[in-house]
Amino acid sequence: SSDVSTMKTLNKSNKLQNVCYDIRGPLLQTANRMETQGHKIIKLNVGNPAPFGFEAPQEILSDVAMNLPNAIGYSDSQGIFAARKAILQYYQAKGLLEAVDVADVYLGNGVSELIVMTMQALLDDGDEVLIPMPDYPLWTAATNLAGGKAVHYLCNEADNWQPDIADIESKINERTKGIVVINPNNPTGALYSTENLKKIVALAEKHGLVLMADEIYDRVLYDDAVHVPLCTLAKNCLVISYNGLSKSHRIAGFRSGWMMLSGKKHHAADFIEGLTMLSSMRLCANVPSQYAIQTAMGGYQSMQALTAPTGRLYQQRNIAIERLNAIKGISCTMPQGAFYCFPKIDRDIYPIEDDMQFMMELLLQEKVLMVQGTGFNWHAPDHFRVVFLPNASDLHEAMDRLERFFATKRQE
Ligand code: PLP
Repeated sequence: SSDVSTMKTLNKSNKLQNVCYDIRGPLLQTANRMETQGHKIIKLNVGNPAPFGFEAPQEILSDVAMNLPNAIGYSDSQGIFAARKAILQYYQAKGLLEAVDVADVYLGNGVSELIVMTMQALLDDGDEVLIPMPDYPLWTAATNLAGGKAVHYLCNEADNWQPDIADIESKINERTKGIVVINPNNPTGALYSTENLKKIVALAEKHGLVLMADEIYDRVLYDDAVHVPLCTLAKNCLVISYNGLSKSHRIAGFRSGWMMLSGKKHHAADFIEGLTMLSSMRLCANVPSQYAIQTAMGGYQSMQALTAPTGRLYQQRNIAIERLNAIKGISCTMPQGAFYCFPKIDRDIYPIEDDMQFMMELLLQEKVLMVQGTGFNWHAPDHFRVVFLPNASDLHEAMDRLERFFATKRQE
C-alpha cells in the first residue's frame, strides 16, 4: 500500500484564487445533499427553462434531428456557414448597417465558452475590465481566471438598475481594456435606455475600449419593450456581441451560442487573431446544435407568446414582483427583460451580515434554493436573486415559504 504521507498534495492552481461561481456553488451542493436524503427542494438558482416545463420549438428539434447524420464530424472552427449567415442577417435586420461578414461570427458551446475565450485572448495580467455590479458572475470569474482584474461599476437600483455612467467613467484608467454591458440584465431584469447605451459607446470610443455586449436575453422582453443592440450604436470602437439560443429558445442544454465582431476592427487585428486561434484550439462548437441556429433566427419568435400579457412568463413575473413587495422590508423593481429579479432586503429589519449564510438558512428551513446577492458581485449582503421560471402554483409555493422564512428573521 502506498504511504499517504509521501504523496504530493494536490492544490488548485493559483489562477483560481479569485475565481468564483456561486450560482452552482456551496448552496447547490447542500441542496443536492438534502435531495439525496429525500427532501424535495424548490431550486431557483439557475436560469434553465426546460426543467420548469418550457418546451423548445418543435421545428428546432426536428431540424437538429434531421441534420444529425451531417453533424458527426468536426465543423469549421468558427461554425457552419448557414448558421453564421443567419446570425449576421439577424443583426443587419436590427440596424447593423456596416460591413460585417461571416468571418466576424464565431459559434461556441454557449455564450459561456466564448466569454472565457475572449478574456483569455484579451487580457494580460493586471489588465482591467469594467463589469456591472450586480453582474452575471461568469464575466468576473472569466476576467480573473485570465489574470485580469474585474472592476465593478454601479448599476443604480433607484434608477431601475440603469448603469451609472459617471461611475463607469471614473473607473477608466490606462489598464482598462473593455466594458461589459449585460442588457437585458441578469440578475436585475433591467433593460438599458438607448441614451445610456450611447453614453457607454461614447466612453468606449473616447478611450479606445472594447465593448462586450452580453445580449442573451434580447428576445425575452415584457411590456412592448424594444431592445437596441449595442453594435448598432457603435462605429468607432470594437464591439463583441454575445447571444445564443439557451434562453430565447429554451434549449440551454444544446450549448448553442455565438459572438459577432463589429465596429472598428483595424486596430484590433492582433487580438482578433488570438480569438481565432483559441477558437481553432477547441476545434469547434458542438455541431448538432449549430443546425438549430438558422431555423431559430428567422421568422416568428415563439418567446413572444410567453412574454405577452397572456403568456406564462409575463404572469409569473407579476406574481413574483407582487409577492416579494408584499413582504415587509423587501422591495423589488419591475424587470423589463429576462426571467430574474433582484429584491432588496432592508437591513434595519433583517440585520444580515453574511447573505450566503442567510440563503443557507432559507434552504435548510424552507427547502428553497436561491442565490445571495454577493454571488452576483453585489457589494452588500442585502439582495438576493429570484428566478421566476416556475409555474404560477409552484411560484406561489416558493413565495409562501420565502414569506414564512422572512417572518422568522424579522427583528424590530
Ligand atoms: N450571459 C448571461 C447574462 C446569462 O444569464 C447566461 C446564462 O445564464 C449566460 C451568459 C450563459 O449562457 P449560455 O452559456 O447557455 O449561452
